[in-house]
Amino acid sequence: RSAVEITQAYLERIKTLEPKLHSFLTVTEATAIAQAQAIDQKIAAGEDIGLLEGIPIGLKDNLCTQGVRTTCASKVLENFVPPYESTVTQRLVEAGTIALGKTNLDEFAMGSSTENSAYQVTGNPWDPSRVPGGSSGGSAAAVAADECPVALGSDTGGSIRQPASLCGVVGLKPTYGLVSRYGLVAYASSLDQIGPLSRTVEDAAIVLQAIAGHDPKDSTSLNVEIPDYTQNLQPGLDCKGRTIGIIQETFGEGLDPVVDEAVKAAIAQYEALGATVKTLSLPRFRYGLPSYYIIAPSEASSNLARYDGVKYGARAEESSLVSMYTKTRAAGFGAEVKRRIMIGTYALSAGYYDAYYLKAQKVRTLIKQDFEAAFQEVDALVCPTSPTTAFTAGSKVDDPISMYLSDLMTIPVNLAGLPGISIPCGFDAAGLPIGLQLIGNVLQEQTLFEMAYAYE
Ligand code: GLN
Repeated sequence: RSAVEITQAYLERIKTLEPKLHSFLTVTEATAIAQAQAIDQKIAAGEDIGLLEGIPIGLKDNLCTQGVRTTCASKVLENFVPPYESTVTQRLVEAGTIALGKTNLDEFAMGSSTENSAYQVTGNPWDPSRVPGGSSGGSAAAVAADECPVALGSDTGGSIRQPASLCGVVGLKPTYGLVSRYGLVAYASSLDQIGPLSRTVEDAAIVLQAIAGHDPKDSTSLNVEIPDYTQNLQPGLDCKGRTIGIIQETFGEGLDPVVDEAVKAAIAQYEALGATVKTLSLPRFRYGLPSYYIIAPSEASSNLARYDGVKYGARAEESSLVSMYTKTRAAGFGAEVKRRIMIGTYALSAGYYDAYYLKAQKVRTLIKQDFEAAFQEVDALVCPTSPTTAFTAGSKVDDPISMYLSDLMTIPVNLAGLPGISIPCGFDAAGLPIGLQLIGNVLQEQTLFEMAYAYE
């Protein structure tokens, strides 16, 4: 089939499903068709085409796309059309992918259910009364519902892996610095990473291959050799010679028994694949959540200072400058974003900085040390991605703490800058997917892909 036919088929599916699913904020039909036509012309001219040429993709709406509205699911960026392209989307364009549109998210990527979007609530394709997870819920739902074969998300504390888990797809958060953040609207800059969501491990590896690598436009971008992630992804791959560590602290209280059972069955499967399995203790793992909810809001309060009605998007009409700022921000930000800005501003303020922010940074170092010790003994760590399967829409919106607990098992990975992948590992009694998280040492994406592929 031609690239145009494939693109049209996905656009048709989007049209059919969107009235129920609401995973896209913007669909770029005309440019998608034009891009597909260009690929077909290349094929007709007998030119070689790359692995990703003509492959449709969904893009989280916090990635700047030149000439295409980028809202971050916020009213404050309602009419923001970036004058520049993010590095990842630029690289995907060069690889020949066809952007189908921009996917829904929690406003500024703050949330775990995509219910914090200022525009729409995305349904979980397995049961639309449930949430798809978040904040990359639009990307996860779109992939799970086959509105696109692959999508990009961003992950600050779990926002790729948790929605992948709740929607039954693969999601990878790369090592901090492996993928350029240039053109990703910043939430918490020391934690944010962009990564793929896909139906198979191999697809995730192919997309990462295209977007990974040094970028002079991002000062935190690593200048390292990128391996061929797919070279060993062949049928029959096993886990002989690998050691897996079960994170003891992730089992027990608060974990849904059905998730516990599925993850333990997956671990047994790893043993059958030849892996040596150990149980390890990461004593500071559980302090990840509280330290994250100091560090992430602190960075957010600084990053979001730029939305003042002058430089971007929406502006409230007011005669004085200060009241224009105030009114723009009061009207433009949703409740969760305001909560984070207030927490962050408080934590950074004089007199409280040492007690909160500095302390949280120290805890972050201790968590990192726990991981470093663990990786002396094992090739990968394993735990559930999320303590529960997809929850009912509305059930946690008035209880931020219970919402925050969704990311208990993903957040420490961001604090330590490590790569983590979520892969499907079964279903609960209601038929909702369960996810398994594999965590690797710094830059061990290839190990994660191979171990995930062996299980898949
Ligand atoms: N749910 C977490 C938060 O609200 C993580 C979000 C993310 O990874 N972007 O901050």
